[in-house]
Amino acid sequence: MRQILRERDAMICRSCSNEERASEGYPCTNCGTFICIICTFRGVIYCRKCEEQMADPRNKRSA
Ligand SMILES: [Zn+2]
Ligand SMILES: [Zn+2]
Repeated sequence: MRQILRERDAMICRSCSNEERASEGYPCTNCGTFICIICTFRGVIYCRKCEEQMADPRNKRSA
């Protein structure tokens, strides 16, 4: 039998919305919220909210 992800360290990934193990994921580089290991492997380092913020040209600080 496979163990279901009902452990205490299961968290919702803020990028793909899947429930994954917090101990295997990484925090968003910007805000520190949970990003799952699958997204991390895909190269995701920001949660969806931060990605949107950074994609918004109004938030770009052009020095
Ligand atoms: Zn994810
Ligand atoms: Zn974030």
